[in-house]
Amino acid sequence: ERKFFVGGNFKMNGTKASLDDIITNLNTVNCPVTDVVVAPPTLYLDYVINKITSQVQVASQNCYKVSKGAYTGEVSPAMLTDIGVNWVVLGHSERRHVFNETNELIGSKVKHALESGLSVIPCIGEKLDEREAGVTEQVVFEQMKFIKDNVEDWTKVVIAYEPVWAIGTGKTATPGQAQEIHEKLRKWLADNVSEAVAKSTRIIYGGSVNGGNCKELAKGKDIDGFLVGGASLKPEFLDIIKANA
Ligand code: 13P
Repeated sequence: ERKFFVGGNFKMNGTKASLDDIITNLNTVNCPVTDVVVAPPTLYLDYVINKITSQVQVASQNCYKVSKGAYTGEVSPAMLTDIGVNWVVLGHSERRHVFNETNELIGSKVKHALESGLSVIPCIGEKLDEREAGVTEQVVFEQMKFIKDNVEDWTKVVIAYEPVWAIGTGKTATPGQAQEIHEKLRKWLADNVSEAVAKSTRIIYGGSVNGGNCKELAKGKDIDGFLVGGASLKPEFLDIIKANA
């Protein structure tokens, strides 16, 4: 009942020319059983949106928590919907750890983005030292609390679990490690939101997903898809889209 979801996070990569190649591939996608959403850099959102002719949807990698005003360098949900963007990734590990975004800020961004009509992909995940200290659950549940407090309509939310130690490192979580946390997150949703929301909300995995490991990971019963970084820039992204098909 949870539709498979594959997101591609291009991060701060790409030129018009390299995006043209990626879009050519994306325009061949025909996978009705999967939602596919790509997040190019903000500057290229309009460019990409206007060139995609397939089912692939477009997300922003970030946005601010108010609709307009004196916030130099920021982009609002209202601007995103104005150019036809319907999704936003929020609280990505790089936003949290390179740009020092707090749970509080991410919570207010989630709230405002949803109120503005965007669907959101909030990201959570523990750092290596936190995993080694045995506090993974505490960390991700705390991050979930700030998301939950700001969500009314869970149909517009896809949770991305991305262990920080697995991002861009080639150290993918094993299917067992990923499934274990996804199952706990779903239980957390059941306990803290509702059984219905726990059953229907997609929880996707991110961290060194590639064409080679996606099928094994996709077998996890609580793994509803992926958020892909590096491999989303490569032709193998098409294989990841079909991991479940
Ligand atoms: P990689 O797939 O490059 O590890 O990145 C994962 C990620 O951060 C997706 O948001």
